[in-house]
Amino acid sequence: MELRPYHHLAMPQRATKRGEERTPLRRDCDVLICGASFAGLAVARELAGSGADVLVIDRYEIGERQTSACGIPTSWLHALALQESLQQTFGELVIHTPHTTVRYDLPWTFSTFDYRTLCGLLAAQGSFAFETAKVDVRRGDTVVTDRGEIRAGLIVDALGWRRVLGVGDNVQPPDALLSRGLEVHPFGTGSDMEVWIDRSYVPAGYGWSFPADGELRIGVGSFDPRFHVREPTVRLAEDLHADTVRYQGNWIPHALRDATEDGVFFVGDSAGHCLPLTAEGIRTALYFGLACGRELRGVVEGRWSRDEALARYHAFSAEHALPFRWMLRMQRLVPRVAPRLLAGSLQAIERKRFIDWAFGHYLEVAHPRFVGGGAPAPALASV
Ligand SMILES: Cc1cc2nc3c(=O)[nH]c(=O)nc-3n(C[C@H](O)[C@H](O)[C@H](O)COP(=O)(O)OP(=O)(O)OC[C@H]3O[C@@H](n4cnc5c(N)ncnc54)[C@H](O)[C@@H]3O)c2cc1C
Repeated sequence: MELRPYHHLAMPQRATKRGEERTPLRRDCDVLICGASFAGLAVARELAGSGADVLVIDRYEIGERQTSACGIPTSWLHALALQESLQQTFGELVIHTPHTTVRYDLPWTFSTFDYRTLCGLLAAQGSFAFETAKVDVRRGDTVVTDRGEIRAGLIVDALGWRRVLGVGDNVQPPDALLSRGLEVHPFGTGSDMEVWIDRSYVPAGYGWSFPADGELRIGVGSFDPRFHVREPTVRLAEDLHADTVRYQGNWIPHALRDATEDGVFFVGDSAGHCLPLTAEGIRTALYFGLACGRELRGVVEGRWSRDEALARYHAFSAEHALPFRWMLRMQRLVPRVAPRLLAGSLQAIERKRFIDWAFGHYLEVAHPRFVGGGAPAPALASV
């Protein structure tokens, strides 16, 4: 089968190939990127023009399956020239608890975006061949898919929380450090980005409603993987007089894991790059994806070896352990705070200077200046 560079293709409109259309796929390539969502497409972007033979595979067509509420700091969309995907922008975060509602005036804005459009735009910045295939397992430098085996010198696992290409058994809930999230996508409008910290919905976690240009993304996330979120998701949607339609859910890792293992690069959820306290994993998937792509590019261009790239990327990811640990601690602390005390604390920190400081540090963990080659997180040590 002939492979065409993705940038020669129009936005994918057809559904993923099935049955006899799934022709055998057996080939070698320089770089194999498994997973074509935020992390995988960010890696591919950094390899554009490197001359490497890059193959990206995913079980679905690019942009076909939305994987989140698609909320991100707006500056990330601008930095990556993805603003065409932008749907709605929010300058405030509204937090509801049983005893109070606070409105935080953010120092930077947050936006919702259209998943399919964003993936198409990001993919167009890369230069790679794309194939739909389900990844089953890896044997050394060979990745086994449902369409055949692919051998590559450089392999990236951007497949999400399962860490399919890791060594040993895959991560399995409910024992693993995973949260669970579920949302509904009814038609509707709203002007606020809202969050509920309310034990009547979820003992440890939060609910949310993100408006996105005629659609609402209403969901509940639980930091305790044993707590089922379907009933509270339905209840929150009903409390907001919204239809419980178009479900979308997944596991969300909430602990940083080794970003390399047995010669493989792990990016995004497969490396636990999602921020533990907020479950914000898109900008971090993009951020670490860019970092990984730059290391791979160095190998392709002969500036360093594969082993050096593995070591450098591993260290880069590990350098971010402090804010991840800190946020995991906060994630465990917040549910233990008595609701009235929590309400008082949220009101006390409503002061503009504190909000600017806290959200400034939060953005630093994966700052959009990194897109242009800027320094990664200078304030990490002081978080
Ligand atoms: C309900 C919910 C709402 C969320 N909302 C937000 C939000 O608003 N903002 C935010 O920043 N984060 C949010 N997150 C977290 C965010 O979705 C993830 O952190 C982010 O998607 C990670 O990106 P990724 O590219 O690493 O993995 P994913 O987006 O999970 O992509 C993995 C890709 O790999 C493919 N794949 C998986 N297994 C295989 C296989 N065996 N073979 C082939 N292909 C495979 C999938 O099809 C997919 O394309 C949310 C999560 C959930 C569950």
